[in-house]
Amino acid sequence: GRYAGLTVGEAREAIVEDLRKAGLLEREEELVHEVGTCWRCHTPVEILVREQWFMRTRALTDKVVEKALKEVRWYPDYMKWRLVDWARSLDWDWVISRQRVFATPIPVWYCARCGHVIVAEPDWLPVDPREGPPRLDACPKCGSREFRPETDVLDTWFDSSITCAVHAGWPDKPDWRRRFPADLHPSGYDIIRTWAYYLMVRHIALFDEVPFKACLINGMVLGTDGRMMHKSYGNYVPASEPIERYGADATRWWAIAGGATGSDVPFRWEEVRHGWRFLRKLWNAARFLSLQLADYDPRGPRPELRTLDRWLLSKLARTIKLATDALEECRFNTALLAIRDFTWHVLCDQYIEAVKHRLYNPEIYGLEEKKAAQFTLYQALYRVVQLLAPFCPHITEEIYQALFRPFEGHKSIHISPWPEAPEGFPDEEAEKAGDLVVALIRAIRREKARRRIALSAPVELVKVFAGSEERAEVIRACEDDIRGTCKISNLQVLPERGEGVEVEGRPDLTFILEA
Ligand SMILES: [Zn+2]
Ligand SMILES: [Zn+2]
Repeated sequence: GRYAGLTVGEAREAIVEDLRKAGLLEREEELVHEVGTCWRCHTPVEILVREQWFMRTRALTDKVVEKALKEVRWYPDYMKWRLVDWARSLDWDWVISRQRVFATPIPVWYCARCGHVIVAEPDWLPVDPREGPPRLDACPKCGSREFRPETDVLDTWFDSSITCAVHAGWPDKPDWRRRFPADLHPSGYDIIRTWAYYLMVRHIALFDEVPFKACLINGMVLGTDGRMMHKSYGNYVPASEPIERYGADATRWWAIAGGATGSDVPFRWEEVRHGWRFLRKLWNAARFLSLQLADYDPRGPRPELRTLDRWLLSKLARTIKLATDALEECRFNTALLAIRDFTWHVLCDQYIEAVKHRLYNPEIYGLEEKKAAQFTLYQALYRVVQLLAPFCPHITEEIYQALFRPFEGHKSIHISPWPEAPEGFPDEEAEKAGDLVVALIRAIRREKARRRIALSAPVELVKVFAGSEERAEVIRACEDDIRGTCKISNLQVLPERGEGVEVEGRPDLTFILEA
């Protein structure tokens, strides 16, 4: 018409001018109102009324809701409500056509004379209607031989909405149902309304089935200031930076330990560094073991284990259970932190310190005792490395190849089986006894530090007031480990109560120390 070729702004002014000329303009005034803009360049968006293609998705809402609640496991569970609420809230169908250059063509032609819609037959596909006419001699309605192609293309989500079936091999592979529905669909909460929802409607429409058995919804990575990471905010950190400074495993550590599944994970250098410190601790422990296990062959008979050995393996068994259960629920940070606590605080800080004397001085403490410590260390570190492998794949593989592969035989830690608790563990009694002994050792070492006695320096006498005969028995059974770890020349364990330094959390267990 008369305004053809003008920009939106020019046309607006021309229309106002025409109205004024025709005497139809009543008044002009300034108006403040909301204007939708492009999220990237903030150009105001002009809405055009155009014919579009729709998929009648609302007809499937009840099915989507029912299947989402009954046939899909959601991690975290509450994420299912985001899909359900969205599906129920929709009061329009899915607009599947887009006015873009690149995308999947809509396989449709129109009769140039009567406008009859010709949809491609399945065996014509794939086809771009813009490249040629339909495989018909004439319009079945009016006989015209002239056709107009659909120039709109499909919404990108229309392709993404069949990924579960396509990944399984549909429609080409006859055995595609073997891999369908997908075991797990990993995604983010920002696309529940799109990807997760469209997957549901398309697969239900096509197969009357859910696309996936489980859906894992992750949070977003936030910038160093807690806002969304954006180039324009300047709050982003390229992944290459932490990877170069602290390694890929420490960077993965932050991503996994940084927050509960489904919640946002702000980028924190402190968390990357924490992961790096832990991995260094693990590496040092592995190096220590490689020296201490040089004369050890795990294929030999299982040695007689001491209380502290059984204590460690019991804690390990619990850690494996905790980590396994957490992973089954996709609670990755819970699993990783449980493994960290065991490795760092139980294995490295307590156990290794408490068996060094056995490893170093078998002529004093016995060869069988040394072997028991070696057996326990081997079992514990191998399982720790297996547990950590999905989280920190590089360092664990390195340790596995150096220490364990000759005996375990798997080509890589990543194809070794998920660890199981050592046979006979957890062992509640050993754990209780070990907790007591470890608390006593820690208290004696702390007392040495308080009195500025070097941890490696010997002390003349430690007299323990156990508070009961039963407890005295438990402590006596570990006398060697207590003497060896704390460098005590003369250790006396008495069943009665007595005045002395209190062991933390056990007020009726005390001791006196003479240097
Ligand atoms: Zn823009
Ligand atoms: Zn026609």
